[in-house]
Amino acid sequence: MKPLSVPERLARNRFELDEEESHIEVNQEVVKATGCGRAIVACCSAHVYTEEADGSLSVEYAACLECGTCLAVAAPGALKWHYPRGGFGIQFREG
Ligand code: SF4
Repeated sequence: MKPLSVPERLARNRFELDEEESHIEVNQEVVKATGCGRAIVACCSAHVYTEEADGSLSVEYAACLECGTCLAVAAPGALKWHYPRGGFGIQFREG
């Protein structure tokens, strides 16, 4: 059996969206003051973040893979990140 590609494996994951609560909050003032938005956008393989023209970040938290990389590259205080509430978030099916 041929091994699956990374996109094929990722497509098997399931997401349970918490429509009432985002597990990612951006402190826009810290992002703008430190210029860390570009690094946050670049590090996220799930394309959760988009840098807007005014330097703020928009967030599509539903696609988050819960890897924690954005928190590692963000300036202190720029992101408030926690795992989704129980029963929500990604369910890994392949890798
Ligand atoms: S935890 Fe990982 S997948 Fe989720 S937003 Fe941060 S970098 Fe992207």
